[in-house]
Amino acid sequence: MKEQRQNFMPADPCFAELYGSPKAKIATAEEIIAHMDEVGIDASVILNAGWSSQEACNRTNDYILDSAARYPGRLIPFVCVQPMAGRAAIDELERCIRGGARGIGEMRSDTQGFDMGDRELMGPIAELAVRHRLFFLTHASEPVGHLYPGKGAITPGSLYHLIQSFPDLQVVCAHWGGGLPFYALMPEVAKAMANTYFDTAATPFLYQPEIFRHVAAIAGADKILMGSDYPLMSPRRVVAQIQLLDLAHETVEMILGGNAERLLEWSRSGAS
Ligand SMILES: [Zn+2]
Repeated sequence: MKEQRQNFMPADPCFAELYGSPKAKIATAEEIIAHMDEVGIDASVILNAGWSSQEACNRTNDYILDSAARYPGRLIPFVCVQPMAGRAAIDELERCIRGGARGIGEMRSDTQGFDMGDRELMGPIAELAVRHRLFFLTHASEPVGHLYPGKGAITPGSLYHLIQSFPDLQVVCAHWGGGLPFYALMPEVAKAMANTYFDTAATPFLYQPEIFRHVAAIAGADKILMGSDYPLMSPRRVVAQIQLLDLAHETVEMILGGNAERLLEWSRSGAS
């Protein structure tokens, strides 16, 4: 699939915000694999994005699933749906599960216009994800600090609503959950986040390297998943931040692959 980015824009505010500028990078599967080879990455989770229309989700899911099938074991596909589309979203998710999807994401409830914690709307999606051991990966936004394109409004409160509504759902909060890991210092929050993980995508744009040490101490190193935000930035930049710290070897191993390997192995065992 090679489509012109302009084709997506009128129907999709999220796409227009992230990729309206011709300078904003979009990577093909071949480019991702080439960069993984260059950097020395064995496998990557490839994410779709939270498009506003179900139709845009379907078209891009096709590309994601096809790419993963062409690079088995190296590209692990996560797909997107528009929950507001109702039955069409469920049908598409079922199709993607048959096609090998291992997760849903990166979802954008703010630009997609729904409440992630809404049990009625999200119940059937969460139920499918739990039954087939799919992860649910959502964008996250810091409620404070500088603004940037795509920051959005998925702050720790809305992430926590999702986590509380669907305690069995395996949730990955992108970009360190907009600060949510800090609240793992509250015992009831730590307990509620038993199935919650945090990825490190775009860390160099957001935080000092010390965030790795602090979140490992507060929430646990087993909760941190390496994410890059490629092609916005190379995974090299996130790894460079980690290398500035004197983290325990086991901690680094967990973040750079051990945790993902463990979780994806669990997920694969539920594939049907
Ligand atoms: Zn994001």
